[in-house]
Amino acid sequence: MPNPSSGYRYKRVLLKVSGEVLMGDQGFGIDIGTVESVAEAVARVARQGVEICLVIGGGNIFRGVSKAAAGMERTTADYMGMLATVMNALAMQGALEKMGVQTRVQSALTMNAVAEPYIRRRALRHLEKGRVVIFAAGVGAPFFTTDSGAALSAAEMGCDALLKGTSVDGVYSADPKKDPSATRYETLTYHDVLAKDLRVMDASAVALMRDSGIPIVVFSIREDDSLEKVLRGEGAFTVIQSGARSDALTNSHESETDMAKPDLKTYRDRMDKAVSALKDEFAGLRTGRANSGLLDPVQVEAYGSTSPLNAVAAISVPEPRMITVNVWDRGMVVSVEKAIRAAGLGLNPIVDGQMLRIPVPPLTEERRKDLVKLAGKYAEQQ
Ligand code: UDP
Repeated sequence: MPNPSSGYRYKRVLLKVSGEVLMGDQGFGIDIGTVESVAEAVARVARQGVEICLVIGGGNIFRGVSKAAAGMERTTADYMGMLATVMNALAMQGALEKMGVQTRVQSALTMNAVAEPYIRRRALRHLEKGRVVIFAAGVGAPFFTTDSGAALSAAEMGCDALLKGTSVDGVYSADPKKDPSATRYETLTYHDVLAKDLRVMDASAVALMRDSGIPIVVFSIREDDSLEKVLRGEGAFTVIQSGARSDALTNSHESETDMAKPDLKTYRDRMDKAVSALKDEFAGLRTGRANSGLLDPVQVEAYGSTSPLNAVAAISVPEPRMITVNVWDRGMVVSVEKAIRAAGLGLNPIVDGQMLRIPVPPLTEERRKDLVKLAGKYAEQQ
């Protein structure tokens, strides 16, 4: 939504700054001078009423994927990366508050001593009150990056644009530092970026912005006034949005609309998958008639890991109201019995040596009603 009173194009934006920007000319860590100059740029527009969400990466301190490549367990490395983003968020908060800008840090990993937990409604209230909200720890899960976290927050906060502040003033046809003939694109479509693998942001982040209709603006945050200029639509930047294909990428044949429209085969495959998933779910509903599928949700602790019941026992249905489970390893009988009782299916096995007999009780009125609701829910989900 434009903000005509200030001449700004956008009222609420998410600014994503990669951790590398914060290290300035150092090879690693946080350069306080650079943090202060980014904070100054943010403060200037925040004072003029632009609502700002901030996401700072962590690549200046720790990047999970590269440490995993060096032999570290990926998930541990990613959690460390998320902690790095919290450190950067706190550095940025400190700099902004020193300039008199009110801020809140919300972290996707709870750490009450330093940040609020992420609560969407609370974040929205902060923005409405003119506070800059800094989102830390990405999406709070490994195997993601802060680009995905930024896209998610931009969508959840209803931002008018996602501004990606980098050290280059837009997206170029080649690396401008290496190739002097490289040209900057004024506009690109989401499809251009994804199809050409332009690596402006993660593909998942670009796809989410496409689906939410939020433009991505790539610009250089290194100049003091560049954020302000971008918000006014001035200066150098690249806008990524839907619409007509950019002329810059002439050999891209698909239009944005073509790409969003899956062909008949894709629809058929999706439908087949949905029907088969629904069949599996319905098979698990206990309808009073014995069915080996009733035991599908049962997971048994076996040999130090969790296995589905049919990996440790043979299941059969000798009569309409009876299921038998023949456990292959006598030592597993107790675990299997426990697992069936614990699965919340309302089934009570009777142990007979290595065999468990499971009578399937007739349904009560109340259970029937629950089942109708559950079946409706399964159908709805597909
Ligand atoms: N990370 C993660 N999940 C997230 C966000 C970040 O696992 O939702 C980890 C991941 O290891 C990533 C690191 O945090 O490499 C730092 O974030 P990122 O690489 O996005 O930082 P940037 O490149 O923007 O500085």
